[in-house]
Amino acid sequence: MTQGDIFRGLSQSHDRLLDDYNQSQAPHALLLTGQSGIWKEEFAATLAASLLCTATENKPCGHCDACHRASSGQHSNLYRLALAGDARSIKIEQLRELLSALSLHPLEEGRRVVMIIRVDAMTVQAQNALLKNLEEPESSDFFILTANNERAVLPTIVSRCQFVRLSVWPDDRVEQLLISRGVEKAQARALTQLAAGRPGIAIAAEADRRYGDANTLADATFFAVKKLSDIPAASMALKDARDTADLLLDLIEQRAGFALRASIASRLSDSHHSEWSEASRSALSKLMEAVFAARKLKASNVSWQAIADQLLFTITKEIHQCQWS
Ligand SMILES: [Zn+2]
Repeated sequence: MTQGDIFRGLSQSHDRLLDDYNQSQAPHALLLTGQSGIWKEEFAATLAASLLCTATENKPCGHCDACHRASSGQHSNLYRLALAGDARSIKIEQLRELLSALSLHPLEEGRRVVMIIRVDAMTVQAQNALLKNLEEPESSDFFILTANNERAVLPTIVSRCQFVRLSVWPDDRVEQLLISRGVEKAQARALTQLAAGRPGIAIAAEADRRYGDANTLADATFFAVKKLSDIPAASMALKDARDTADLLLDLIEQRAGFALRASIASRLSDSHHSEWSEASRSALSKLMEAVFAARKLKASNVSWQAIADQLLFTITKEIHQCQWS
């Protein structure tokens, strides 16, 4: 399955754009609109990769050097402008930075692709500043814009773009996507009903649920063990948690890191108190190292049960000072 196959057959618009970009018939400026959560940005990234891919057909192939660099954000001819962090708008300064980069000679031969995610979140001033580049693009430059709210995009911008309003996804395609990402069938069905054709909503809900589950499990296991005799029950509870292992490791690391920072800060003020704050700095550092080692072991397919047990022992021994008897 290639990146394009995720979108193939979703709608006539999706198919037409996939074909146009595959056959080098892409417009110099495209504006994708539609509800939030329908994967406009992911689709824009797929079209962008098509323009940069060096394969002769079925672009983006997903295998060539250009595809790899495009998907990891490392391609020097791929520019991306989006909301920064929690910001509510894309400011004129951000756009000026982009335009000045574009005014330089390209770093690589070939096409340059500029993705502007949420052009509707750009200030009017920034949208106006973008106009000239859309009006007279360099022959090698291609713009792909997305917007959730098309009424917040200046008509002068809309008129310079090929305008495509994308629809929500059919339910079976949302479900299929979730299953392909490792979600169980029953769960995928429930999330699909909630999402109403918007895969991004389903995926966010799934991530929230996993995070909640991981938190609950960490509280009952890694954060609950205090003595060696607590370990067998915790180990049992963690047995089937390989899917949430990464989140669990993140949570342990976060807590240890927080306690470590609190312990360093408390030299200056006594008011800091946190979970695990009784532990010594060297114990917390050892635990952080153990989490680091656990990630490596997991990557080399060591059994999760063995990794979890090792961490439980480290926590009881280092954090709660239990001695081996
Ligand atoms: Zn490729």
